[in-house]
Amino acid sequence: MQQRILIVEDDPNVALVLEDALSAEGYTTEHASDGRHAVESALARAFDLTLLDVGLPDKDGFAVCDELRRQGVQMPILLLTARTAPDDKVRGLRMGADDYVTKPFHVPELLARIQALLRRTQHTQAAILIEYRFGDVFVDFYRGRATKAGRPVELTTKELVLLRYLIARRGLVVSREELLTEVWGYHSTNTRTVDVHIATLRQKLEDHPHAPLHVLTVRGGGYQFQHAPM
Ligand code: CA
Repeated sequence: MQQRILIVEDDPNVALVLEDALSAEGYTTEHASDGRHAVESALARAFDLTLLDVGLPDKDGFAVCDELRRQGVQMPILLLTARTAPDDKVRGLRMGADDYVTKPFHVPELLARIQALLRRTQHTQAAILIEYRFGDVFVDFYRGRATKAGRPVELTTKELVLLRYLIARRGLVVSREELLTEVWGYHSTNTRTVDVHIATLRQKLEDHPHAPLHVLTVRGGGYQFQHAPM
């Protein structure tokens, strides 16, 4: 699967350089030019990594980083900091960034840092999703607990693993066959099990299980997790 990188950069020239360099390496990119759109994109769609400029017009990169971590977003974040502000590094790492590169950056070095971060987190994206909040639902995957509107909801282990898999790939369509393989661990064309578990998740977590806002059916495709509109 192609790896997806979110580029958050307000300078259109720098953004273009980054997009070109990353697509030349085979990554799929999306660009956000301010903090608000960066948070929206990162919550709406799953990315493998975010390249986050610190100096942004509305909320800065630190605030974006902090907000994403608070919302339970676990993907690696690589900060682009100004060389003139050495404190940025410490502050960024405190806000949950994984690494930083100073501007003006050297493209090959940046690519090497990205590859190193992706290697470190590959295959563990779903495993490191510790908690997640959407709508009035809060899920603590670590303790296996969930609440809806502050009231406890009982989720089985299978339901938790299924939900975590969908959330880790939010915004992407996941086929029933993929869910069977990844969540249940077997290949089968009998995907009824998946449908039954999805229906139960909706009963427990959606306000209107027959008109779901988060666990969506994609006709002819499978399922897709969608974060609530902010
Ligand atoms: Ca900037």
